[in-house]
Amino acid sequence: MDIRITNAVTRSSAGKTTEIGIANGKIARIGTSVGGAATTIDAGGNLVTESFVNGHLHLDKVYTLEMVGQDALGSYHGESMGGAMTAIEQASRVKEKYDESWIIENVRRAANLSVKYGNLHIRAFADVDTKAKLEGAKALIKAREEFKDKLDIQVVAFPQDGVVRDPGAFEYVEEALKMGADVVGGIPWIEFTEEDCRSHVDQMLDLAVKYEKPVSMLVDDAGDANFRTTEYLAIQAIKRGLIGKVTAQHARAMALYPEPTYRKLEALLLKAGMGLVSDPQTGPLHARVRDLYAAGVPVALGQDDIADAYYPFGRNNMLEVGFLAVHLLWMTTFDDMEKIYDMLTTNAARALGVDNFGLQEGMDANLVVLTQPSVWKALWEHEAPSHVMYKGKVVTAGA
Ligand SMILES: [Zn+2]
Repeated sequence: MDIRITNAVTRSSAGKTTEIGIANGKIARIGTSVGGAATTIDAGGNLVTESFVNGHLHLDKVYTLEMVGQDALGSYHGESMGGAMTAIEQASRVKEKYDESWIIENVRRAANLSVKYGNLHIRAFADVDTKAKLEGAKALIKAREEFKDKLDIQVVAFPQDGVVRDPGAFEYVEEALKMGADVVGGIPWIEFTEEDCRSHVDQMLDLAVKYEKPVSMLVDDAGDANFRTTEYLAIQAIKRGLIGKVTAQHARAMALYPEPTYRKLEALLLKAGMGLVSDPQTGPLHARVRDLYAAGVPVALGQDDIADAYYPFGRNNMLEVGFLAVHLLWMTTFDDMEKIYDMLTTNAARALGVDNFGLQEGMDANLVVLTQPSVWKALWEHEAPSHVMYKGKVVTAGA
């Protein structure tokens, strides 16, 4: 073995300690005595789990709040999210100053926090449009390469200001994919007409098929019960055979749907194998996380923002995101907290199509050794892990 973790409590070990042996980047053995190793890590009776997965982060905008000002915060969060579109228009001002040279510095700061907190898979959105051009995407692709031995940054080419509304954005998205972006983005609800919303989805899915990329779209992210872009995205994913390739972010409007409309959507999400990422800490409305989880939809949580126009805090600490979700979703029982933890780890990996992920023999050794013995206490304290391991290598030791 390369690494042997002793005195580890796992989520399935019923409070008893066990050992985890790691060899060649994989979890080689889990059991009472895994044999000798070059390095031994004593977990001291604390919890060892999969590392964290961040289903949604605007990584190109981190730490821009002071640059853009507070106006968008009020518009996004006020009036039950009735002003979400105005917020996006206000926030888009920052892009007039977009330049890879300063964006990359902020991205590195957030990526280092990500490693510190064991948040090793990030679906990272970069605005790609006629204002931002390719500056954000360039910075994120650069960071992805710089950090590739420490974490997995999946770069989404994201036309934040629309595709029909912003002529030229389509070409920028395609250019970003040619440059090496990993995921096709989208935000169909922001278009002015129903027809344009659909065209937005169609155009982006065409790109996904052409370049054989997965899809992540911000859907129905406003307080309007009539928004239906999540539903349309699922229908089109099914029609194009993109089963399990599409992830929906936000979908907050579903909280306002009549029950039959919600049930229909839930069935479509299951049929499309579509994951859903919710960020209840960044807006007063949120997707029906509890119901979607119970139905078997892969639900993930996301950090969404770090000190940008839409949210003033964020440390890229998914245990902190989980702690907030426990409150906002009122999932306070021990059983509920286990579900929240799934949404930060295993379920989130399913939602994003991360392969070889899980605390099982044969899987990639993407692990965190926490400072607490249980999920409950880990969420309570939301401290940085004592050890973070990416593909079998310790990427940080101590906070
Ligand atoms: Zn977002």
